[in-house]
Parts: sequence; C-alpha cells; structure tokens
Amino acid sequence: MTDTHHRFLFDDMPVRGGWVRLGAAYREMLAQHDYPPVLRRMLGEMLAATALLAANLKFKGSLIVQVQSPGPLQLLVVESTDELGLRAIAKWRGDLPDDADLLRLASNGRCVMTLDPRDGAQMYQGIVAMESGTVAEVLEHHMQSSEQLATRMWLAADGEHAAGLLLQRLPGAGTGSGAPSEDWDRVTLVGSTVRPGELLALDGGELLNRLFSQEAVRLFAGHPVRFECGCSEIRVANALLLLGRGEIEQVLAEQGRIEVACEFCNRKYAFDRARALALFAQPEPAGTLH
Ligand SMILES: [Zn+2]
Repeated sequence: MTDTHHRFLFDDMPVRGGWVRLGAAYREMLAQHDYPPVLRRMLGEMLAATALLAANLKFKGSLIVQVQSPGPLQLLVVESTDELGLRAIAKWRGDLPDDADLLRLASNGRCVMTLDPRDGAQMYQGIVAMESGTVAEVLEHHMQSSEQLATRMWLAADGEHAAGLLLQRLPGAGTGSGAPSEDWDRVTLVGSTVRPGELLALDGGELLNRLFSQEAVRLFAGHPVRFECGCSEIRVANALLLLGRGEIEQVLAEQGRIEVACEFCNRKYAFDRARALALFAQPEPAGTLH
C-alpha cells in the first residue's frame, strides 16, 4: 500500500526508525505544477524525508523544510503536519540538467527547518548551509548540527512513487551498557545496502525483514500520508492586509478585483472591491502583525 508511514523500534538498542512510501499523494502534488524531471524526483525525496521527520514531532503542528538559494533552484518548500498532511512547492529558473544534484542546483544556498506548533507556542528555526549533494545528506547534516540527533536516511523517488527509510539514534544512546555505538554502526551499515528499487517496490514489513532479519524489530501500525494544504480565506485575507491598503487599491484600480491562487494547491481566492476594502475597515484582526 502506498501513502503510508510506519514507525519501528529495535528491541535491543535505543534506535528508532521510520519507513514511508508515497504514491497518489506525491503525484497529486506534482500535478499542481509543471516541474522538470530532476525536481520531480527531488521533491519526492524531500516529501518522504519530511514525512519521516514529522512523524516524530512531539507537538501538534507542522515541520517545514525549506531550501533557498541564489542558484537555479530558488526555493523548495515541503511542509508536513504531525498527522502527515503534506504539501510542497518548488521555484526554479532556467533549464535544470537531469543529472544535477541538490548542491549544484542550490549552490551557496541554505536549508531551513522550522518547527511550527499550532497552539501558538514559540516557533523554532534551524538553519544550515548547503554542503552536500543529496537530500538525505543535507537533512542528516541538519539533524546532527541543529538537533544533535544522529540520523540516517535513505530516499528514492521516480516521479510516480517516493519512499524513504529513517534510522535515528535516540538521545541517551551510548551512555548505557552494551555496545550502542557498535549497534548503531551495524544497523546503519545494513541500511546503507538498501537500493532505490527496493525502497520503491517493497512494503515496510518486507523491507525490514530483508534488511534487519538479524535484529528484533517491532513494526507499528501504518499511518496514512496525504496531500493537504492548510490554505484558507482567512490566511489569504491576512496576507492581503500585510501587503497594505495602497498596494491593494492599485491592483483594484488595474484589475477591478483581487485574485489570489494558492501556490501549493492552486486553489483560487477572489475578493471583489467591496470585500477587499472591507478588510482594511475592520478592527485589527487576530493573527496579523499590527
Ligand atoms: Zn492551498
């Protein structure tokens, strides 16, 4: 089954894991824009990776992974809620070579990871420079440098399906008895043998059996992953308010109405003149920066 995430644990060592495979949800997101093939694959890997990381969120809210660069890949954003509702968008310029890696497309760029709790608690942002060529390497480096969490990920995407496997060494590992370092080295070495074709084709249970037949692994029930955009009329209205009355009046003068399409899902929002101007007549609405 595709569009599913499973978590798993090793019984004999403080290492947790996740497996995810996307099909329909991935294709639905790709269908929103005419992405070049290399970006279709990169987005797939980033979607799988973000879902794997978001599945471990300790709060209700979202994880947002953003790559920004002055290179050909200007922006890549993938957002996942703690319930694994995903959305994604990428912006690029020029022709992207089919075999380019992330470092080449996003040269001199940075990777920003944002934890955005829904209950209004403090947002947290970690930023690292782009130093590696694959999506997995960039995010592994990010988790190590801003979360001090040893993480390995193996990702695959072909434009139709995307899949990923995650291993994470839990905090405190390495201080107990036994040989946690040896355990970690052993399971990550085994993880490194996984081939993209296996990731894309096998179910989580099959894959773990094949890889970790020597270990005691507990696989938990699957959780659905889906395409979900959190856009709403209120959010669009707040964005218009931030643009300011002058700018809005200028658009109204030119076009007679305000039309905004959500970049993630292409949903259209329209405000006629009266409704657009009424936004500015209201007392300060909640959620704006005023
Ligand atoms: Zn939307």
